[in-house]
This record gives sequence, C-alpha cells and structure tokens, in this order.
Amino acid sequence: MLELNSPVSAVKGIGSERTRYLKNLNIETVGDIITHYPRGYDDRSKVTPIAELEPGEEAVIVAAPKDEPKTGYFHGMAITKARVYDESGSITVVWYNQPYMKNNINSGVKYAFIGSLMIKKNNQREMQSPEVGKLDENGEWQGGIVPIYPLCAGLSQKVFRKTVSEALTASEDNIKEFLPANIRKKYHLADRAFAIKNIHMPENAEYCELARERLVFEELFILQTALLRLKAEGTAEKNGIRLELIDMEPFFNSLPFRFTEAQDKVFEEITEDMTSGQVMNRLVQGDVGSGKTAVAMAAAYMSVKNGFQAVMMAPTEVLAAQHFDSFKEIFEPLGINVLLLTGGLKASEKRDKLAKIASGEANIIVGTHALIQSNVEFKNIGLVITDEQHRFGVRQRQTLSEKGDNPHVLVMTATPIPRTLALILYGDLDISIIDSLPPGRQEIETFAVNTGYRDRIYNFIEKEIKKGRQAYVICAMVEENEKIEAESVTEYSEILKCSVLGHRRIAVIHGKMKSDEKDGILKAFAAGEIDILVATTVIEVGINVPNATVMVIENAERFGLAQLHQLRGRVGRGKEKSYCILISDNKGDITKKRLKTMTSTTDGFKISEMDLRLRGPGEFFGTRQHGLPSLKIANLYSDMDILKAAQNAARELMEDDPKLEREENFDLKTELDRLKLSDNVGI
Ligand code: ADP
Ligand code: MG
Repeated sequence: MLELNSPVSAVKGIGSERTRYLKNLNIETVGDIITHYPRGYDDRSKVTPIAELEPGEEAVIVAAPKDEPKTGYFHGMAITKARVYDESGSITVVWYNQPYMKNNINSGVKYAFIGSLMIKKNNQREMQSPEVGKLDENGEWQGGIVPIYPLCAGLSQKVFRKTVSEALTASEDNIKEFLPANIRKKYHLADRAFAIKNIHMPENAEYCELARERLVFEELFILQTALLRLKAEGTAEKNGIRLELIDMEPFFNSLPFRFTEAQDKVFEEITEDMTSGQVMNRLVQGDVGSGKTAVAMAAAYMSVKNGFQAVMMAPTEVLAAQHFDSFKEIFEPLGINVLLLTGGLKASEKRDKLAKIASGEANIIVGTHALIQSNVEFKNIGLVITDEQHRFGVRQRQTLSEKGDNPHVLVMTATPIPRTLALILYGDLDISIIDSLPPGRQEIETFAVNTGYRDRIYNFIEKEIKKGRQAYVICAMVEENEKIEAESVTEYSEILKCSVLGHRRIAVIHGKMKSDEKDGILKAFAAGEIDILVATTVIEVGINVPNATVMVIENAERFGLAQLHQLRGRVGRGKEKSYCILISDNKGDITKKRLKTMTSTTDGFKISEMDLRLRGPGEFFGTRQHGLPSLKIANLYSDMDILKAAQNAARELMEDDPKLEREENFDLKTELDRLKLSDNVGI
C-alpha cells in the first residue's frame, strides 16, 4: 500500500520522464494523481459502424482483422498494421513503436478499437494508435464511461488513465474520510474513497454524479472553512482602534459634489465599524465610477482627524499617482498632508519621504507595493485602504496592516462580483456595496463591429476630436510579453498616423515604459495635449479623464468581460455623451454572446455574472491575478447550489466548534492544517 504523500515514482510504470511530465501538472505525489480529476467523460458504450466514422472524432468500432497484424520497420520505427472489418466496411488500424500489439490481436477475433478516423493523403482511412478492448463472453462490448483529463504535452489520455488506475489500486486503503459524519449525513455526501474511485472510473452515471457532488462539496467546504477560520483569527484577537465620531462638515464642504445615498450608506457602515472598538475588515464593492474613492477619502479624513495616519495602496503606479492627485486636491485645502510613495525614487528623495512618514508629518500616504517594504515605518496607522483589482493577497494586505497596531482595513474592488462569489473570494471581509452611480451619468453607447469598419471608426474619432474630445484605442495583449506588447501599440500608432487621424496628436503608452514616462503621457492626455492615446491595458484601472469620449478596443475577444467593462469605464466620466467600440473578427459563439452582453448592458454586476457563466471563474479573474486557489473540480457558476450548501455547512460548523476542537472534527482540522489554505485564499 502506498501512502498518499509518496512520490509519483513509487507508482508502477512511472519513470523519470513521466515524473517530469506530471510535475508540469503540479502532480508530485500519489495523492496528487488521484485528486487530478477528469474534466469530462466519454461514453464508450456506443459503437459506431466503420462506414459512419467522422474524421477527428473519437469513436468505438467493433471489428475483426481478417489477417494477422504485420509489423514493418521504417527509419527504425516499428509500424504495426492490420485491416479490420465490420458489416459496414473496413479500416486500417496502425500502432507506432508498439510491436507487441501484433501479439495482442488475433485474426478472426472481434475487438473494440477506440480512436479517431484519419484520412490520409491518398484517401486511405486509418485509425492511429487506437486503444483495444476485449468483448465480453457473449461477444458484447461493455463500453462504460471513460474519464478525460486536463493534461499537458507528453501525456496521453491513455497513459494518464493507466497512471490513475495504478495509483488508485496502490493507495485505495489510504484514502481517508475527513468530513465529519454529521455533515456527510445532513448533505447526503458519498464517502471519500468511493467518490475518488468513481470520479475516475465510474461504475455508472449515477455513481459518477454522486462522486462529483461529494468532491465539489468537499472542495468548496474546505475553502469556506479555511476562510472562516482566517476570519475568526483576524477578528478574535483584534480589538481595534476606537475612533471618535468627528465633524465631517469641512470634508463634505470641500468635495465638489454631494454623496449619493449609496455612498452615504456605505460610509455609515464604515463609521460604525471604526467607532466600534473592533477592527474593521471591510470590502467596498462598486461599479466603475460609482465613487469608491470618495468614500475612501471620507474614511481617511476620519482617521486623520482622530490623530492617525491613513494609508492607501494601489496596484499600479499610474493609479497611485492619480489617487495622490485627487487626494491632494481635496485634502491640502483642509491642511492635511498627502504624500506619494512609489518605487524607483532617488535616494535623497526617498529618505526625505520616509522621514515624513515616520514622523507623522505625512497624514495620508498613497503608494504602491513600495509601502510594504521593510524600511517603511509609519508613525501610527489608523486606516489601511487597498484599491485593487484582485491584485493583493491576504498576506500583502496583512503585511501593510502589521506596520500599524491593528489598523482598520478597507478594501475596494471595481470588479463587481455576485455576492456568493464575493463570500468565497473575500470570506475574511465584511462586504458593503455601492449600488448606484452618481446622478447625471449618461449611458455609454456601445457597438460591436468587425475590422471592416475601421475606417468609419477613424472618421468618427476625427469628428469627436473636432468637437474637442479625446479618444483611447486599446490593443489587446497578444502575449504576456511586454516587449511584444510595446511593439504592437507602437505599430498600431503608425497605422493611425497613415489614416485620416494622421494630423492628430497621437501617443502610445504601455507597460514597458518607465513610470515617469508613463506619468508624463497620462498627464499630457489629462491636460488635453494628446488627442488619441494608443494603449495596452496599463490604463485599465482607474484613470480618470472626463474629456475622453471614445474608447475603441481592438481584438475585443481577447479580453474578459469584466476587463472590457473596466476599460469602457474610462469614458463616460464627463458631461459629454461617450462611445465604446469593440472591434473583433472572431465569429465564435461565446465571443458573440460576450460582445452582445457588452452592447446590451452597462451594469457591472450583470456583466460579471455573465462572464462567470461564459468563461468560468478561473479565466474571469485571470489565473495569475486572483487569490482564488485554483479549483480542481468545482465550477463556481454551475455549482452554485452546492456552493451555498457548503457555505451553510461551514458556517454551522464554525459556529458550533470555532476552534475545531471536538473529536469528530479532528480529521477535518488535520486536513485543513495540511492544506495551509490560509496562505493563498482570499484577496
Ligand atoms: P470608482 O473609484 O468607484 O470607479 P471614483 O471614486 O473614481 O469611482 O469616482 C468616479 C468619478 O465620479 C470621479 O470623477 C468622482 O469625482 C465622481 N464622483 C464620485 N462621487 C460622486 C457623487 N456623489 N456625485 C458626483 N460625482 C461623483
Ligand atoms: Mg477607482
């Protein structure tokens, strides 16, 4: 019997080469193999007549060779062939470098061959390297359900199925249940060993479903429980700084607008938290342009007036610089000092800033990751605000918090997500939602067109510029490669210079530029000195130029809906009517649906829900950016019901036994500790 933490090489048939391939899938132990779940199944019970095979589609034929298979050699490779027949016709089956197949197949005997039809140059029909199955004693084919795995180069389905089967046989008895019995009973969950076995090799469709339900529940339940524990850890020990209610009038008087009802409501929730004596851990969700920054400012004002510093961390320098500008505008007239701290400062400048932060001369500090570096010391932080788009992990947030003495924490996110999902992502936070936009916003008119319309679009931009407006053109990131990205925007701007827009002031901005260079361009654009800004997604988060009224997005199919929504949110910020034009030649169904969603609604919540439905959460957040541990089996959209059940179960459990001290929860606690989920859950 193999332990689940034995290395994969302990499994029969796994050598060094396969070990390497498995490692590419993050599979290093026996336990990893058996929890690498199928992404789907093939029903192999259906037999297709040879004459009806479709090229490229896997199918099962039941056929017999008339003659013994023959093995020939070509450039040293053994090629084994046989011509096999059923009532409808015949086909050649071929294996490469598997000379033993010759002995596995006898003439005149029927077998099942599982593979797909290839049509060769000379119109020869061939099935390459099919799997071979024996018929039962009655001469019937018992196909069954076969798993299909997410794999990468070097591993075939056939090989991986064998690997799983070997690993399961060798470790079966070590698959231990860790869900408490009462939870399994209440939620009708199959036993773990049964589930793992039947997710890979289901005896029938019903068992397969039972297995899946159990494993999805398990995955979501573990995640929820880990989050709740994290949350309990966070709040239990933390008595927060009790702020006093202060006179907010000076602040509100210096704002150029009145808070919306939604902003008022959220600020009230924040005030309640910060004056409660408990530490605040709150997420503010709100659509693009809903006015989150203003709410954050109000909270910062409250902290400063109570004698504490407020810190705001943004994911990019561009965004930090912009927040700095808007904070300064509001706070300097009120005699509150705002300071910007980003990377890449001159030594003397840095020393000077660090001194101001440490002495408390800086009341509000806005910055990037530079804020969490070890040499940054604050005088006394009362409030930490992170403005982000799923870019900071729980740990980074904590690192910043730890620079103070249990400061209040406010997280703002511009990607509105359904509440259930927010609970998963931000389980350690309380949630506030700014659910309406400031008055007077005009709907941004959105079109989806193909590249055939480019000239008309350029003419349209020209018309807007004549009216005094400005435009963005966004080029999709072709690869995660800043160099190529830079080239693509530069090239695009060359194309623009040869169009009707040639005489306009065109600038490019991309991630490979130095930050002061980027800053310079954004400032010039904001000042109206540039007509058209050709950009990569560096501008995605937060930039605010109310005079820009046109947003053109090339290769729109390459962006997620949430991202398109963010980009669109860069226009429609002023009094003038704004337009968003999505260009795509992609005719795929999903692309069509996604672009249709964009043209039919501007409600961020609806859009994110649609995106989730069409693409799944992994892609929704962009795999690398989000803090969601990659889910192996659950789909947060289609498994919403199980998610709710798992959330319930986790909540009940943690209310009942917050420290998981009871004996019946011992195995669960062990598993949670083993997974160390708290390192990567949450945002
Ligand atoms: P978010 O960060 O939620 O995308 P911002 O806080 O940047 O939104 O606000 C977007 C724009 O709306 C800013 O120009 C801001 O000054 C303005 N704004 C915010 N709140 C209000 C309000 N209550 N009334 C009018 N304009 C507002
Ligand atoms: Mg913002």
